[in-house]
Amino acid sequence: MNKKEHRAHMGIRPRLFLALAALTILFILLLWIFQIRLLSYFYEREKFSEMEELASELSEEIGTADFEAKVKLHAQDDGVCIRIFRIEESSEQSGEKVAVKVADGEATSDCIIHHLPPEQLSKIYDLTKENGGTYDRRMELQTDFSDSEEFRVPGFHRRGSSTNAVHARLLETEGREYLLMLDVQLTPVDAIVNTLEIQFLWIAAALLLATFIAAFLGSRMIANPLIRITEKARGLAKGNYEPDFSGQGYREVQELADALNYAATEIGATDRLQKELIANISHDLRTPLTMIKGYSEMMRDIPGENSPENVQAIIDETTRLSELVNDLMDLSKLQSGTQKMNPTVFDLTATVQDTMQRYDTLIRHQGYRIEFHPAGEALVKADRTMILQVVYNLINNAVNYTGESKRVVVTETVKDGRVRLSIADDGEGIPPDKIPEIWDRYYRVDKVHNRSVIGTGLGLSIVKGILESHHAAYGVDSAVGVGSVFWFELPLCDPSDKASE
Ligand code: ADP
Repeated sequence: MNKKEHRAHMGIRPRLFLALAALTILFILLLWIFQIRLLSYFYEREKFSEMEELASELSEEIGTADFEAKVKLHAQDDGVCIRIFRIEESSEQSGEKVAVKVADGEATSDCIIHHLPPEQLSKIYDLTKENGGTYDRRMELQTDFSDSEEFRVPGFHRRGSSTNAVHARLLETEGREYLLMLDVQLTPVDAIVNTLEIQFLWIAAALLLATFIAAFLGSRMIANPLIRITEKARGLAKGNYEPDFSGQGYREVQELADALNYAATEIGATDRLQKELIANISHDLRTPLTMIKGYSEMMRDIPGENSPENVQAIIDETTRLSELVNDLMDLSKLQSGTQKMNPTVFDLTATVQDTMQRYDTLIRHQGYRIEFHPAGEALVKADRTMILQVVYNLINNAVNYTGESKRVVVTETVKDGRVRLSIADDGEGIPPDKIPEIWDRYYRVDKVHNRSVIGTGLGLSIVKGILESHHAAYGVDSAVGVGSVFWFELPLCDPSDKASE
């Protein structure tokens, strides 16, 4: 199994857990970087810039009245140790420089600049000069010396250590050179970071635990309805079409359950229809076969029954049987879309007139009256054989269902570039609520499936299939006790279309 397949087979639970765990770890990492690792860095930068600001303020105040008092006040207010020296040439003409204290403010006893011996003070002066006038440095004040090679504070005893930020600045005012030194303690923030680190470990552990619980509960909440639906869907595959999928909780799961319920209902209905269809077909095939067998046996066993009438009965039943088989084949071809259409331009009027001849026997021997009111030439472009079958099926139905009058009227009308063929009878008519269903295969208004009466029960669904494949309008107007008018329309085409064929 490759990696991709493995991922596809991973359930919601481990996937959700992994996603949440990854998110939490990322969150913890970011928190650790910004809250712990970078805290002292940001604090230090903040302190250096505060000291820079204060140094600039002091530079402007140098030489003003009560300068020393102002420095003390700044030190107190801002918590910064300040030392200001004036740099003068040594009086001994040695070229050496001496630092004369100008002002001093001590904010804490842990400050480094107040503990530096003179030689280290002059080192800071040199470094500041080299550096272009300002010098920033982080310094450690150890038990009795600084960890830095350069700065040691001998004899300074205290417990633990202190980390300080030192800012030095050189400036010239009225021809005199000054060295400003500021010092602020960073140690408290280091201590805070230590505390935070411990707190952080606890928070991280709690977060991971919370993630685990949330992933477990969350994935259960999401996965359980899906697991239930999957089990039910397996039942669907085994033939249980009861639509009892339920999806509590989530809209998406509910929608899935609704879709599956709908599918189950539809599959159930199709399944029922299919079973009904098989039962009907078997019945319809068996009836003529029984008749044929009955007649044949009668003719074989009973002397004198070998009459032309009985042979005719067998022929009639065989015809009916082949009609049924043909209808079934037509319908299945239409429904599966394998029936190829072969559209040609032809005159509908002439086609209907041709069909009329098929009813001659019916008219002559059984007293039916089939009238045709044509509308002159009506050229249409369609599959002639198929349209012929539509006309034939509709007239057949009208003959079968017409009333005592035994009258069927076929009317052709032309309007708005269309030709409409209406086949009317004055039979019992169709109840309005049954009309939409008569187009379904094997649907019969009269549920008694009496094959010996008429039709194959497939006629109208074949009509519907053919007309829909021609995109033709069709319908029925019927009133109970008055009769029915079945109709369809086809667009007319120009005689030039026929010529160009
Ligand atoms: P059948 O072989 O039963 O006629 P069809 O598909 O042709 O099958 O018709 C379906 C049903 O529609 C018929 O069983 C009948 O109930 C109804 N029907 C069709 N044509 C007419 C009509 N002209 N008058 C009344 N009912 C009709």
